[in-house]
Parts: sequence; structure tokens; C-alpha cells
Amino acid sequence: MVQTNEMQIEFDARSCNEGFVRVSVAAFCTQLNPTLEEVADIKTAVSEAITNAMIHGYGGEVHKIWVKCRIQGKEFCIDVIDHGVGIADIEKAMEPMFTTRPELERSGMGFAFMEAFMDELWVESTVGEGTTVHMKKRIRR
Ligand code: ATP
Ligand code: MG
Repeated sequence: MVQTNEMQIEFDARSCNEGFVRVSVAAFCTQLNPTLEEVADIKTAVSEAITNAMIHGYGGEVHKIWVKCRIQGKEFCIDVIDHGVGIADIEKAMEPMFTTRPELERSGMGFAFMEAFMDELWVESTVGEGTTVHMKKRIRR
């Protein structure tokens, strides 16, 4: 059986927490001996998902966000969870350049980056209940 190793962080949706959570996830994944590029990809993807939870999920209000990480063999899995407003049309939201907040100078590229930098991305969301972004990356060496 493949060995697993898990950790999770619960934190307030304040932008000052984004950096430390991103670095904590990166530090946790170093046990897989990733390349610098793989670490950078993971940091970018996590950062995009956390920012989305703060801006879109909670609309800038301070509530909890959860980041759950799991190492399974050579696979690194990350779930970013909010209990915010949720997403009505997930397929539409994931289209490149689609944003519901153009007034905030959002470019609608967050999901596109997550998709590009991770091997798998899938989103579960219920309006009024919240959103979970699941991501997976296989570390090559
Ligand atoms: P950018 O990431 O380029 O700054 P963006 O955040 O609008 O812009 P995406 O990250 O691709 O672009 O997200 C697309 C849309 O999906 C958002 O505009 C928002 O409507 C919705 N969305 C994303 N994450 C969440 C979330 N956690 N809760 C609610 N809605 C979300
Ligand atoms: Mg975004």
C-alpha cells in the first residue's frame, strides 16, 4: 500500500495570511524532492485558489479557509476549502478570462493558471455553502 502523509491549515481570510500558507504548503511538499519549478507551480496554484476564496468566496469578509495537503506516493494533493457564496456555473467560472469582478482588475486567469501548473484540477461548489478546489500534481523524481 502507498504511504500517505497529511497536513491541514485553518486560517482567517486575511490577505496577510496568503504568503505564509503558500510557503507552508511548499515546505510540506519538499519531502517529495520536487524541482524548484514544481515548487513554484504549486505555490502559484495555491496562491490563486486562496485569493479566490478570500475575494470571491468571502467577498473580503474574514471567515475561515482550510488548506488540506496529502502526499500519496509521488502525488501531491491540495484541497482549498471555503464556506463562502459558492459558484453557480463552475464550467463558466473555469473558462479563461471569465471573471465576475472586472471592477477589481481581475483578469479571470486564476483557474487557467491552476489548470496549467497542476496535473489535475476539479471544483466542487454549492451556492450558499461554499467551494472546494481540488488539485493534484505528480512530482516526477
Ligand atoms: P484572477 O484570478 O485572474 O485575478 P478571477 O479570480 O476573477 O481573476 P478565476 O480565478 O479564474 O478569475 O475565477 C473565475 C471566477 O470564478 C471568479 O471571477 C469568480 O466568479 C469565481 N470563483 C472562483 N473561485 C471562487 C470561490 N472560491 N468562491 C466563489 N466564486 C469563485
Ligand atoms: Mg482568481
